[in-house]
Amino acid sequence: MTRSANLGFSRIGLNRELKKALESYWKGESDTAALHATAAGLRARHWSLQREAGIAVIPSNDFSLYDHVLDTSVLVGAIPPRFAGIADPDARYFAMARGTDAAPAMEMTKWFDTNYHFIVPELHRDQAFALNAGKPLNHFREAQALGLVTRPVILGPVTFLSLAKAKDDGFEPLDLLDALLPVYAELLAQLKAEGADWVQIDEPVLVLDLSSRQQAALEKAYAVLGKAGPDILLTTYFGDLRDNTELAARLPVAGLHIDLVRAPGQLDAVLAALPAGKTLSVGVVDGRNIWRTDLDAAFGLVSRVWDHIGPDCLEIAPSCSLLHSPVDLDAETALDAELKSWLAFARQKLEEVAALTTAQQRGRGAARTAFEASAAAIAAHKASARIHRPEVKARAAQAIALDRNSSFASRREKQRARFNLPDYPTTTIGSFPQTKEVRQARAAFKKGQLDRAGYDAFLEQQTERAIRIQEELGLDVLVHGEFERNDMVEYFGEQLDGFAFTRNGWVQSYGSRCVKPPVIYGDVSRPAPMTVRWSAFAASLTDRHMKGMLTGPVTILQWSFVRVDQPRAETCRQIGLAIRQEVLDLEQAGIGIIQIDEPALREGLPLRRSDWDAYLRWAVDCFRLSASGVADDTQIHTHMCYAEFNDIMPAIAAMDADVISIETSRSDMELLEAFRDFNYPNEIGPGVWDIHAPRVPDQADMLALLRKAGRGIAPDQLWVNPDCGLKTRGWPEVNAALQNLVAAAKALRSAA
Ligand code: GLN
Ligand code: ZN
Repeated sequence: MTRSANLGFSRIGLNRELKKALESYWKGESDTAALHATAAGLRARHWSLQREAGIAVIPSNDFSLYDHVLDTSVLVGAIPPRFAGIADPDARYFAMARGTDAAPAMEMTKWFDTNYHFIVPELHRDQAFALNAGKPLNHFREAQALGLVTRPVILGPVTFLSLAKAKDDGFEPLDLLDALLPVYAELLAQLKAEGADWVQIDEPVLVLDLSSRQQAALEKAYAVLGKAGPDILLTTYFGDLRDNTELAARLPVAGLHIDLVRAPGQLDAVLAALPAGKTLSVGVVDGRNIWRTDLDAAFGLVSRVWDHIGPDCLEIAPSCSLLHSPVDLDAETALDAELKSWLAFARQKLEEVAALTTAQQRGRGAARTAFEASAAAIAAHKASARIHRPEVKARAAQAIALDRNSSFASRREKQRARFNLPDYPTTTIGSFPQTKEVRQARAAFKKGQLDRAGYDAFLEQQTERAIRIQEELGLDVLVHGEFERNDMVEYFGEQLDGFAFTRNGWVQSYGSRCVKPPVIYGDVSRPAPMTVRWSAFAASLTDRHMKGMLTGPVTILQWSFVRVDQPRAETCRQIGLAIRQEVLDLEQAGIGIIQIDEPALREGLPLRRSDWDAYLRWAVDCFRLSASGVADDTQIHTHMCYAEFNDIMPAIAAMDADVISIETSRSDMELLEAFRDFNYPNEIGPGVWDIHAPRVPDQADMLALLRKAGRGIAPDQLWVNPDCGLKTRGWPEVNAALQNLVAAAKALRSAA
């Protein structure tokens, strides 16, 4: 019979219980026992929540105290040597994730195209593996004690190796497959002995462009693992199998999961390739976004599969793990009823899966209430005047020139004449320390304990102080400090029409860190200027140049939950237009230098290379739309954090920002090579201070970095700035580091 299934659930908990338990444990305020008790409580609660929602196949081992890729490193005994001496397993685990004084943390990077970060496995040429199956076995038993036979979730060996970093030269992690497979086989055998009939093995690499080595590795791995123990549900998500369809379908495992939300178009090819008798799990409920499922449409898809493979081989599931979804919409007491009726969080998504399954098993009438509610909400959503605003759509449809009026070369002359900056001009990326005082004042204002006038006066005083400090330091281009901003996206979302905010819509970003992305539900427009007040106020306090600070359209899009009823490109263009108006208002107010931050531009890249161009075209166009309206002598800056630029240099150049600042200090200026090789024509500020660490670099450190940057980048192209904003640093470090930074720039100037 058709089964309802889930692939993974939030770990953090509705009220971020895990976050609080972790942070108190890390501070030494609570012990291991308390941490593990909270974790076990969350697992139990989430298992029963899934059961009550009507899910038949419930996962275990999807829970993690920090990250499931880190868990996999531990599972297979891939402990980097610098942590091997730490005897306590919990202490060692968190040391790997967060580092200690003696051993730096393992690297962290983004999980496919999500905003979740995993800990990158580190492997050596002579890497030995050893099974450490405690966690999956214990969690399986824990659920068993609660009366549940769960389906353990394991990260697949090929994805694990593909995500790993080789710590020695001359080998690739995939070389270690033969050494790794026995550990996996042993794990599967133990799970089988424990009573697991099925395991879910995640191989999301199957939606990427695979090398022939990776393809061969998959063949080899599943030839071994397919026979090792429980039935395997080979799980893919975040995209379509495309050229890997045949491979995924033919691997000798019992089942395959595909993401039909991101990639509904792959269904026919998968059905054609799927051997008879193989289970197909169809992900028809979006595990990564917060919109309610159109149950009729999803049921249409499910029925097609049912017709093809019959009831016994069919499983209905979310598209991917609900790790990427907030927990429960019912907790949103402040959202208006209409908006709420359009949404579904993890719990509601599982109810949708259950309704679809019931309808498949017993006919749609058996799930009538759910289908009727869905149909009503979908129809109301389509027609809502809150979403569709003809005047916004009309404005976005107008053609607007994306090029600046003149070439960079002639803009540069006019800007030089206007600003008269020295060589190696110094600036910062925007934010200054968000001290306890700043956060307390904001909290008091939000709670109504501090009125608007009082809060504004406080912000003005902070801003003025930051300006005096910058003047004293001798920086060339000043910023106002962003004290009025809680977050670089939320601040703008709160002032734009078409955005909504949840109270509890937390999603894990890494470890205990969660984000609460804004919801872009409707056509976006800007009812009033958003930043002009603060930039103009700051500019009025000083004779120096003041840089206006904005978040770019791609970053606002990328860090939000985005509507799915129109292409992302269209939503981004609407945001781009709103930012363009803000840019023009800043210019009008006399702000001659304006920075439009786009740290998320690269992370928006599609998973498949062949999709990159289309994305980059609209993403770059949206940035250009926001920036192109200004006069030649207005200087546009952009900023990006740590990113690989090599393969996207044409797009970076097409943005045509007069100045770009990037994060380069940790890579020892290596990231700058892409700009050098490309002969990047515009100005660049390669960061010379790693603001992620508390260390204050001295003048010589920064000078050395700048000299390195100067090889291949012309002196009159270079700016001097930190890697990123300073909001997480304290004033004493900021003062000291910026003093050294200004001194380094001056030393360069006098050496010239
Ligand atoms: N202007 C922002 C700041 O300084 C940029 C932050 C970012 O790039 N993530 O905080
Ligand atoms: Zn940054």
